[in-house]
Amino acid sequence: MLAASAMGAVMTATAARAAAFGNPDQPPQGAINASGPGNLKDPGPRDEAIGNQFPSATSPPATDIGGGALDWASFNNAPKRIQDGGWARQVTQRDFAISSTIAGVNMRLTAGGIRELHWHQAAEWAIMTYGSCRVTVLDTVGRPFVADVNEGDLWYFPPGYPHSLQGLGPDGCEFVICFDDGGASEFNTLLLTDWIAHTPPDVLAKNFGVPAETLAKVPLHDLWIFQGTLPGDLASDRAAISKSGHVPPHPFIFKLGSWAPAKQSKAGEIRVADSNSFPISTTIAAALVTVRPGGIREMHWHPNADEWQYYLKGKARMTVFNAGPNARTMDFHPGDIGYVKRNIGHYVENVGDTDLQFIGVFRAPRYEEISLSDWLTHTPPALVAQHLHVDESAIAKWPDNAPGIMPGS
Ligand code: MN
Ligand code: MN
Repeated sequence: MLAASAMGAVMTATAARAAAFGNPDQPPQGAINASGPGNLKDPGPRDEAIGNQFPSATSPPATDIGGGALDWASFNNAPKRIQDGGWARQVTQRDFAISSTIAGVNMRLTAGGIRELHWHQAAEWAIMTYGSCRVTVLDTVGRPFVADVNEGDLWYFPPGYPHSLQGLGPDGCEFVICFDDGGASEFNTLLLTDWIAHTPPDVLAKNFGVPAETLAKVPLHDLWIFQGTLPGDLASDRAAISKSGHVPPHPFIFKLGSWAPAKQSKAGEIRVADSNSFPISTTIAAALVTVRPGGIREMHWHPNADEWQYYLKGKARMTVFNAGPNARTMDFHPGDIGYVKRNIGHYVENVGDTDLQFIGVFRAPRYEEISLSDWLTHTPPALVAQHLHVDESAIAKWPDNAPGIMPGS
């Protein structure tokens, strides 16, 4: 009896502490519960340079609970395949289990460097992050397209459309590709040189209507990425390919930076590119998010697709919330990848002293989100007040315009 009542007293004390705002769980979690410095010691072994990048994993907030698939990956530690002319590295679902809808590729092409003429099963969406390149593509009724893509621009090639990429002056380019299939690989595409080399010479002769000897020097190994010579001006390339005069009805590129932001305030901005503004992009929608220091990409979720994130600038902290409850907080830096499943709640906070910028990519024709504050300010206030035990006068001060980004206090 005595032992049982002593146990009860301990549990009551623990429960009282666990009930605190900001530390809801039983048993309580987080460094806030530690009674002495020994609890927080991490004697190692430990890699300081890596460990120090993840303060939220090393010491999660007391509101975190449960587990869930890792939602962090990075190009920073993805092995590069380096050729003369550029390199590429990728993070597919094989490397990043949660990423079922999107596989990511990071590629660099030198000035004149060519990503060989090729095609593949998945659609290809991309954002240019440095420099410029020339893209070529042919649609299914034989209409050719060639364009130059600069920093901040996007492209989209539907599945099976044959295409090429070539870095331009002065210093080539770097970009990130998303395939609309988590299992797709940039290292396993249908290559022009592979097909030619693996076709009998007499068939090639018949196919192209020329003697086989004219094709005798075709490469026996694929080129994939190789150093080429810089192309001439865009107008000459356009003239050279435009034999019928027919052009595709929708461009395969999109200048995201010149499109009006969907949301804009002193806290930051959100620019959206989906099939409304970029009609060819029928399977990928994207939102480029810029958050000023101290600001937060507000609590929200996406009803129609998982979100694959690529971090471009700054320092971010994101918590994802699922039923269970499960809540997990993680840190993100430039070159990192984040992933949030469809309908899973999340926010992204700028925890650095410079602008945070990331792009969310969705395997969906349109960008969709539900904002938590928008929902709660478009629900009868008395109903919300009874749920959260807050005064209706406080609810009246919440943003009711789905701001997208809120400033720091
Ligand atoms: Mn491709
Ligand atoms: Mn989101």
